[in-house]
Amino acid sequence: MEIFKTPQETTEYIKSLQGSIGFVPTMGALHKGHLELINKARNENDFVIVSIFVNPTQFLPGEDLDKYPRKLEADLEICKRAGVNAVFTPISQNIYSEDEISIKAPKIKGYILEGFFRPRHFDGVLQVVNKLFNIVKPTRAYFGKKDAQQLYLIKQMVKNFFFDLEIVPVDTIREKDGLALSSRNIYLSNEERKRALSISKALKRAAKLSTTTTDIEKIKKEMLEILDVDRLQYIAFVDNDFNYINKITHGNTIILIAAYIGQTRLIDNIWL
Ligand code: AMP
Repeated sequence: MEIFKTPQETTEYIKSLQGSIGFVPTMGALHKGHLELINKARNENDFVIVSIFVNPTQFLPGEDLDKYPRKLEADLEICKRAGVNAVFTPISQNIYSEDEISIKAPKIKGYILEGFFRPRHFDGVLQVVNKLFNIVKPTRAYFGKKDAQQLYLIKQMVKNFFFDLEIVPVDTIREKDGLALSSRNIYLSNEERKRALSISKALKRAAKLSTTTTDIEKIKKEMLEILDVDRLQYIAFVDNDFNYINKITHGNTIILIAAYIGQTRLIDNIWL
């Protein structure tokens, strides 16, 4: 497995490849959710490239940039075992320059929900993914449905900027008890982890209820009864294009939750 630290080396390597390229961008601290993306990329492409980069521009001041888990050695081992061809793991100076051109997330859909509670987060996400796409020039790029709004905005960027690549959504991988895998789960104490389960439970209950009612208020009320979080930021019902809805349509509804358990901010969702 090749390991590259600079965009130049990566681009040179990419040029030497003949065949389709599946790309999995990550911030590292890899878990089974990331592995699912990697495996799908490997099954559908001739080559798999993974990037590992804790992108500073998508963290707000005061967020967990400094304490975000970094486990490069273990991550490289996971990638090697999973049959990844190359890992691109740059330092920030190799990606960003001073006073550079920046991409803005769309004013509405980039600034609701996650974008409301983390303003400019998606500007940073789109900025880095744009750069990564230009370096790796993938045939297909793999993104988790766990970060549903991110997935939607990246699809929009591909459309708006005429990127010649396919975005492949990947289902959320969960622990046996329902907790969505996340690099941030390691912040949770045992007691917090138990309460974090109430998030996936509320979503599961909502999915079940939606088979007998399309009434969002009724569903929301039951979800609130199940949730055992310290600070709920949102429960939202949107269609697949992130328009708010007031009735559920199967095949075109996503229910999203963002909440703090202690100091840890978790997000999860379910696609109906
Ligand atoms: P991150 O390292 O958190 O930036 O995530 C990298 C990619 O993995 C993103 O496309 C995420 O949506 C995806 N991902 C994160 N957690 C999961 C999960 N539990 N299941 C599936 N994909 C995930």
